[in-house]
Amino acid sequence: MNNFSYVLAASVADALQQVVAAPESRLIAGGTNLVDRLKVFLDQPSLLIDISRLAINQIETTPEGGLRVGALVTNTALANHPDVRRNYPLLSRAILSGASQQIRNVATVGGNILQHTRCPYYYDTAFPCNKRHLGSGCPAAIGVNRMHAILGASDQCVAVHPSDMCVALAALDAIVEVEGAQGQRQIPFTEFHRLPGNEPQQDTVLAPGELITAVILPPLAFAQSGVYLKLRDRTSYSFALISVAAALDLKGEEIQAARLALGGVAHKPWRSLETEAFLQGKPANATTFEQAGELALREAQPLTHNAFKVNMAKRSIKRALTIAAQGGGVA
Ligand code: SF4
Repeated sequence: MNNFSYVLAASVADALQQVVAAPESRLIAGGTNLVDRLKVFLDQPSLLIDISRLAINQIETTPEGGLRVGALVTNTALANHPDVRRNYPLLSRAILSGASQQIRNVATVGGNILQHTRCPYYYDTAFPCNKRHLGSGCPAAIGVNRMHAILGASDQCVAVHPSDMCVALAALDAIVEVEGAQGQRQIPFTEFHRLPGNEPQQDTVLAPGELITAVILPPLAFAQSGVYLKLRDRTSYSFALISVAAALDLKGEEIQAARLALGGVAHKPWRSLETEAFLQGKPANATTFEQAGELALREAQPLTHNAFKVNMAKRSIKRALTIAAQGGGVA
């Protein structure tokens, strides 16, 4: 860890002003990812700007009947909020399936969205890595890649986004509210994270000097049937091999609308709009759900060690949709 200065931001405007004045600075809130990065010199800031005391830590009901979640709300507070448990249970379950209780107690919504990939080559600076130094290479593409991407990867990077919460937010059509020198703007959640392409060092579309202030959850009645299914190597404190966020709107046996997003498969939470469109109007049965899995994974391109993820994802989709069709509950 390098030496740095520390300052406590007094307001969002103060934080923005300080971050623009010191481009080598970093914002810190819970610090559950940043401190790991500081320890291995992935980040070497001249200044840490502590935003943890800013007044963007409330959960409020929106006039439309959704929720506006401040960026500094902790993962624990969001997962346990009564409105989240009742109206967006897949979000609550996604959060509770991630990290440990101690980490969730301090990790924030904004920090969760902005966390970096956990690709081991990225954190081990003895290896080259295009995400750290563009053009240096991607050892994961030819190395140990069991945890890596099967969808949307590029020759430059095959990393996956590690968040569970973000998979649920993608399925729920959340909106990310950000503030910067140019004012405030709103970004649809599915457009916030990037695929690696030729710029794997860019995880999101957040501009330099911008700060996440809130996440907006639109109302969605059938989200109450929502399911979050996570498959991993052990049952706690482990990243997803595959995860599925799913919800179905049923009229009798017929699917009126569907939501489907995958985690552990790509550089971003993977919303499958094509599969959702396929499901609309179909009967909610095993054949339909199997076909949905096939369609969602149609373009999968597994690496040397992760071909197992393709079938695992198909079967997980079938299982998640089956549980959603039964009204949701614990997957
Ligand atoms: Fe780096 Fe991405 Fe390759 Fe991992 S997958 S080594 S993060 S370029």
